[in-house]
Amino acid sequence: MAAASDLPHAVCVELAREAIAAGPNGYTAAAANARAQHFRDALLGPVINATGVLLHTNLGRAPFPLATPAQAMNVEFDLTSGERGSRQTAVGGLVAMLCGAEAAMVVNNNAAAVLLVLAALANGRDVLVSRGESVEIGGGFRVPEVMEQSGARLVDVGTTNRTRLADYSKAMTRKAADVAAVLKVHPSNYRIEGFTEQTSVAQLATLGVPVVADIGSGLIDANCPWLPGPPPAWLANEPAARQTLADGAALVTFSGDKLLGGPQAGIIAGRADLVQACKQHPLARALRPGAHVLLALQELALAYLDRTVVEAVPFWQMATTTVNELSVRAHELVAAAGCGEVVATEATPGAGSAPNAGIASVGVRVIGDHLSALRRAQPPIVARNRDSATVLDLRTVNPTDDHHLVEALRKCAS
Ligand SMILES: *Cc1c(COP(=O)(O)O)cnc(C)c1O
Repeated sequence: MAAASDLPHAVCVELAREAIAAGPNGYTAAAANARAQHFRDALLGPVINATGVLLHTNLGRAPFPLATPAQAMNVEFDLTSGERGSRQTAVGGLVAMLCGAEAAMVVNNNAAAVLLVLAALANGRDVLVSRGESVEIGGGFRVPEVMEQSGARLVDVGTTNRTRLADYSKAMTRKAADVAAVLKVHPSNYRIEGFTEQTSVAQLATLGVPVVADIGSGLIDANCPWLPGPPPAWLANEPAARQTLADGAALVTFSGDKLLGGPQAGIIAGRADLVQACKQHPLARALRPGAHVLLALQELALAYLDRTVVEAVPFWQMATTTVNELSVRAHELVAAAGCGEVVATEATPGAGSAPNAGIASVGVRVIGDHLSALRRAQPPIVARNRDSATVLDLRTVNPTDDHHLVEALRKCAS
């Protein structure tokens, strides 16, 4: 079992046993090796994302470093008073400041954020949702199912393509209505085109019940004040936390690892009394993040407030690298590898953010399908096939990994 040389002995014994049991003609070294390889491939580890999808859900979305001090931390300890504190205080305060909210809290992911908000605000009561927004985001997040788990009653409003304010008003005044909130869901990776009509958050805010907006993508501010220039064109249709709250949403929920660029987390931000209700709900404990995630989010929030996002946040680094920089790297790579050609590509934000938007990018193209060979490189490289060639998009590759690409490309060529 050469492939298993670095696996724990107990694992090798188990794999050898399985190989013996499975082989009709008994144990073969090749079968055991294949099992060892498979076992090792399944272990988590860093990979090089050369797909051009910036937030690749299968590759962990936004890359962000987690500091791992093996030390006690004041997670729930108030250093001023010496008494018990809340793990939500520091990061919640920073995130609230970022989005211009009264208060904010952090949970494990955005699915958890939506679940908690609905459970805390609307258990046993009605929540109005446009039929055009009763969507599935992917990976099992389906609005009607989350709603059911929260104990809230889904009230469908309007039609699939058009929902007006009057549809919501009608649902509020129907017999036995007990409306706790309106949920507005950003359809993310889904678009209805043509004869359509949606109701804006500002309009919904006139209904007199809290408007909860699941914006999903986690863009903090549509003006992107952390960027040196104007917001990139590909962000044009993305809802942003600050503006959605300013328009009158009582709460917004979003992911930490999408356009925010941080670790996996879910953010709930908005009215202080409603955030407080979420904090006090029994589910809050089950959905809370760990200290390492909170610490990473704190770093991220401080970078936003410090305006050091472009240097400190890998996602925004990837997003803002110029085509010219990518082109220089691509030419150097091709020259060093002695194979491949530089091609223009189109990267995408990914993770359901700005689904129709392309980001001009540059890649290296090699004739033939080399995907599985690239996956066997160390670290593994994930690329894409296009027109019977393999394309490595450089926008999603950290420049410090370029030498790994050179090495892998040389192998492809030989
Ligand atoms: C991505 C997304 C979710 C799910 O978020 P997770 O952080 O993956 O749980 C929910 N709602 C919307 C609108 C999304 O875009």
